[in-house]
Amino acid sequence: MLMTKERQPAIRTLRGWAIAVLQEAGAIRECEEHGWMQDRADPHARERAFGLARQDPPTGISPDDAVAEIRDVLGSIGDTCPQCPAEAD
Ligand SMILES: [Zn+2]
Repeated sequence: MLMTKERQPAIRTLRGWAIAVLQEAGAIRECEEHGWMQDRADPHARERAFGLARQDPPTGISPDDAVAEIRDVLGSIGDTCPQCPAEAD
């Protein structure tokens, strides 16, 4: 019985790193109730995140790849929590 699984821990780690950088910069936040990441749509926070990525990319990752991953993660995160009821405010 073959149970071969192609795992890609490096990519998962890179994504986790990008999320951590975005949170640190304040570009995204976690819904307190449901835990979904939300894009805060703050251009200054995004700039901070890109700056952090460029200055301090993960080991073995080029600054360009680190920035690309940040952009990729941002693109995958919505600006609302999918489980929070829409509020008119
Ligand atoms: Zn929520």
